[in-house]
Amino acid sequence: MLKIERLTTEYLERECVTDNPHPVFALTLASDKRETKIKSALFRVGEWQQRVEDNRAVYDGLPLSPLTEYELCAEVEDNYGEKATASMKFKTGFMDGNLPAEWITDGSYNLADNTSSPEPMTFARNFSVSGKVKSATLYITAIGIYCAYINGQRVGEDYFTPGFTSYNKRMQYQTYGVVGMLAENNRIEVAVAGGWACGSYTNRRRNKLYADRQALKAVLDIEFEDGRKLRIATNTAWQVARRYKFISADIYDGERYDASVSENDAEWRPATVERPGISPRLIADCGAPVRCRRRMQAKCIIRHPDGRLIYDFGQNFAGIVSLKVKGVRGQKICVRHAEIITDGELHTSLLRSAKATVEYICRDGVQQYAPTFTYMGFRYIEVSGAKEADTEVCAYLLSSDIAQTGHFECSDGRLNRLQQNIVFSALSNFMDIPTDCPQRDERMGWTGDIAVFAPTACFNFDMSRFFAKWLGDMREEQGEDGGIPDVIPAPPGTFAPAAKAFWGDACVLVPYAEYMQRGDKSQLMQAYPAMKKYVDGLVRKAERVAPFKHKYILWTYITQAFKQYGDWCSPDCGYYGWMLRSKWTATASLKNLLSLTAQIAQLVGDNCTYKRYTHIAEEVSRAYIREFTDGNGKLKKEFQTAYVLPLKFGMFPVASKAKAAENLVRLVRRNNYKVMTGFPGTPYILFVLAENGYQEDAYRMLTNESCPSWLYEVKTGGTSIWERWDALKEDGTINIDDNDKNVMVSFNHYASGDIGDFLYQKVLGISPANGGYRAFNVMPLKLGDITWAKGYTMTKYGKIVVDWSTDEGRIKVSVPVGATCHIKFMDIDKVVESGDYEFTVGQ
Ligand code: BGC
Repeated sequence: MLKIERLTTEYLERECVTDNPHPVFALTLASDKRETKIKSALFRVGEWQQRVEDNRAVYDGLPLSPLTEYELCAEVEDNYGEKATASMKFKTGFMDGNLPAEWITDGSYNLADNTSSPEPMTFARNFSVSGKVKSATLYITAIGIYCAYINGQRVGEDYFTPGFTSYNKRMQYQTYGVVGMLAENNRIEVAVAGGWACGSYTNRRRNKLYADRQALKAVLDIEFEDGRKLRIATNTAWQVARRYKFISADIYDGERYDASVSENDAEWRPATVERPGISPRLIADCGAPVRCRRRMQAKCIIRHPDGRLIYDFGQNFAGIVSLKVKGVRGQKICVRHAEIITDGELHTSLLRSAKATVEYICRDGVQQYAPTFTYMGFRYIEVSGAKEADTEVCAYLLSSDIAQTGHFECSDGRLNRLQQNIVFSALSNFMDIPTDCPQRDERMGWTGDIAVFAPTACFNFDMSRFFAKWLGDMREEQGEDGGIPDVIPAPPGTFAPAAKAFWGDACVLVPYAEYMQRGDKSQLMQAYPAMKKYVDGLVRKAERVAPFKHKYILWTYITQAFKQYGDWCSPDCGYYGWMLRSKWTATASLKNLLSLTAQIAQLVGDNCTYKRYTHIAEEVSRAYIREFTDGNGKLKKEFQTAYVLPLKFGMFPVASKAKAAENLVRLVRRNNYKVMTGFPGTPYILFVLAENGYQEDAYRMLTNESCPSWLYEVKTGGTSIWERWDALKEDGTINIDDNDKNVMVSFNHYASGDIGDFLYQKVLGISPANGGYRAFNVMPLKLGDITWAKGYTMTKYGKIVVDWSTDEGRIKVSVPVGATCHIKFMDIDKVVESGDYEFTVGQ
């Protein structure tokens, strides 16, 4: 039987509200018959219909009307003539870039200093409804971050709304159905903290980055059974108070909340209409909102004689504490957070200026509290001011609501822990935008980190909405000559657009990874102009340096006062050493970008660019080989990344490729299999070893436990991926200079977790042969002592499951409907269509 397992609009199965005039529809199928293929699929919305031979369609009918509910119907027929149907509803938003309401603020408030976060504001309005309410919808956004309450009850379950976008260009609004929350007499309150827009943010700790103070814009639309309509929109009829319960709030420093304050204690004044300095386009939420993904329980408690309690959650993650206490009015409870403890005390110097502290002032009785406008990266908390017997402590793991769609496990438990650490660091850093780390005074959308991590992210999670939103902001912020700021979003006056190898490259590497995983050509078409603009800019720069040295050697970069990050974080040199390697990393990256963008150009039908880039890519390879090697596969200056990149990107001529691989292996062996690559080389080194005949060496490097290595972190008790391999010394002490204000030791940085891609592709064995896995390979390598692996990844056709064991002499593969799989493992070499298969191997 053929079944539509999943039908989506804009990648959502339910509650989709979109302002996109061309929403994307998709479905996945299941069938109990082998070799099922989609013969045709029909997507229908009202009069519009589109027949495709694939499982995805983009709406291109008459303009959708705003604030309308539509029904999407899908009908599919397979090659056996079996049929399946499904339908879902989606809604449109205002679709005109605005909400019909005023921006309101506390006009009496001016934040004098340039570093701190503003006092939280709470906006309120009473209203009554008479008659039976049919529907009630709240459309809401804020400059700052907001949380809305109706009759004291929190609206929705999202955190840090409206989410972080390029606020000067576009800002999301959320849509909540609130009919069940209304009574006859109602009060809506909306607390708004500074957040990213006006709070203290970026590693420079500047405030008012987008606006001088918070503002709120909201519309509550109520429809009665008898046809009457009521609209309550933000205007001067609303009131505002500052420090009402939320005394202070700051992303890095934490929150202070006074539960003893009542409505009558606050100083309410009429809200004033605000004319913010920015006028963003307002768009319906198009990303993946931050939510509580898991409740975390402490594993043990350290009790200090002075009453302080230290809770160990046994896991490094990002989120907030939740307290349930029996308290007395005025009692102050303080919670501090840290990733690590030394001598039974929190070690907080790694947080740099971030205070990561929460203070809660009790009312009388049993009460519950979790912060609203802040989050921390931590494993340990210290609670003071509360008795253990009166306090229940847990924590909420917060992360963007992206479904976990991949799983990996194998016979080596250490690699399974590594995989878990990768997943935890991903969850910790997918906080509405892809951040570098969740704990110190940074937490910015660093492009380089996600550029290298994207393929691993895509195997493990459904990144579609998360990336679509973030890449949308990247396009908004791209510079005239194609440059991309180091962080996205980059608040005005912080990071200027620039061409930086592996950082700006995110505009190619991220959409490419997403396309390979999900095969959504419409996303690729959207991303393509920005990719091309970026690469064109690089080519222009590379050609301009011709008079000085070989054309296409991107070494202007190092002369530009260390503007590149080079081999960032490579363990065999320091800050300047990393940057000085940029002529290798930038040149190799240019070749890679040219080849990838050429491939995409071909896919989107831009043949002229395809030819031009392919030609220049060859020139760049030649320049690299001529400038940096002896012409026979040996680098004049040797380091791991300088071999890894040209080998991975196919830059060595056939004649010297084997020699180059041999030279890399010599370095690797001489170094006792320790990883010496920075951000650029780390995702590829094992691939390069394994693909050039050095599988055993790849295995030894993967499973090496001496520092620096992936399993050193596991051996030392790491529960997440670290920024630096040597963050903890062998003896368990932290490897930092406490006097260094710019200390760069984060225990939760996903970048070097990009090895996850290797675990999926080479250990489990799943890799796409083309975008979206219509054709894919299952070709696990027989690596060292690994005797079995099993896992899955979700593709647009459905779930690919692999389970192999050499002990049991078998491999099992599930191929989703519509896809073709090439299985090659030991003595098996077969091409199969959809269905579940099991083969005996090694007979
Ligand atoms: C961040 C990195 C980032 C780098 C670039 C660091 O402070 O934490 O992960 O990519 O800066 O310079």
